[in-house]
Amino acid sequence: MAIDALPPLREVIAAHSLSARKALGQNFLLDLNLTAKIARLAGDLSQADVLEVGPGPGGLTRGLLAEGARRVVAVEKDARCLPALAEIAAAYPGRLEVMNADALEIDWQAVLAPPRKIVANLPYNVGTELLVRWLTPPSWPPAWDSLTLMFQREVADRIVAQPGGKAYGRLAVLAQWRCEARIAMTLPPEAFTPPPKVRSAVVHLTALSAPRYEADPAVLSRVVAAAFGQRRKMLRAALKGLAPDIEEHLRAAGIAPTERAEQVPIEGFCALARTLA
Ligand code: SAM
Repeated sequence: MAIDALPPLREVIAAHSLSARKALGQNFLLDLNLTAKIARLAGDLSQADVLEVGPGPGGLTRGLLAEGARRVVAVEKDARCLPALAEIAAAYPGRLEVMNADALEIDWQAVLAPPRKIVANLPYNVGTELLVRWLTPPSWPPAWDSLTLMFQREVADRIVAQPGGKAYGRLAVLAQWRCEARIAMTLPPEAFTPPPKVRSAVVHLTALSAPRYEADPAVLSRVVAAAFGQRRKMLRAALKGLAPDIEEHLRAAGIAPTERAEQVPIEGFCALARTLA
C-alpha cells in the first residue's frame, strides 16, 4: 500500500529534473516503504518537531510525515528540490516547513519546538561535522532527544565502536559518553539512486539525561583529540603537550603511560580529563 497519495519518487525526480549531484552528496532513497521504516526507527514522532537535513526530493520527509511527525523542518541546500518539497508541504498542511539553507549555517533550535528529534539521510561531505556539533553543545542534556542518522557504514562503525580496535576513536567517545548509540539498520548500495560505492547504516542515538562519567567537555575534547590524533603513539608521548607531568596524571587516572589511545575506555578518558582540569 502507498504511504501517501503523492506521486512515486521516480516521477517526482523526472518531473523536476532532479539529477543527482555528487558534490552535494546526493544519493536518494526512492522506496517509500523503506523511508517510512527509517522514520519509525526514530520512535514516536507524534509529539515531536523533527529536523531533517537534506530532504532532497523528499522520500524520508514523506516517511516522517506519514508516520505522524507533529512537524518537520527540512533544510535543503539545493534549490532545485524546492518545488518537489512544496508539493509535500501542500499535502500535509501546516506540518512541513522547508528552509533553503546550508544546515551548517542555520540556528535549528530556534525553528523547532521541544521535544526535538533529528532524522536525516546525511550528505556524506558534512555528516560527521554535523554529528560532532550535535554531540558537543555547551550544556547537557542537548536541545534534541534523539538522532536517527544515515551514514556510510564505516562512520556508523566508528560511532558505536568499543575500545580495542581501529574504529574506536574520537567519535565513539563523544557519542557514547553522553548517549546510547546503536546501529539500527544497514543498507546495501542498491537502496540508493545512484548507488554509492559503500554500504550505509542508520545510527540511532538517544541523549542520556546526564553524562556517564563526570568530565569537563572542553578538557575531554582536548584529551581525546590529542590521544587519537597520534593514535599509534603511547599516551605519554601523544599527550605530552597537555601537561609537563602527563605521566603522573595518567597514573592518577588509572592509565598506564605506555598504553595507546584505542585501549582506553571512555571512563579512563573522563578520569584523565578530571585530573587535568
Ligand atoms: N533525504 C533524501 C533521501 O533520503 O533521498 C536525500 C539524501 S542525500 C544523501 C543528501 C541531501 O542533502 C541532498 O539532497 C543534498 O542536496 C543535501 N545537502 C548537501 N549538503 C547540504 C547542506 N550543507 N545543508 C543542507 N542540505 C545539504
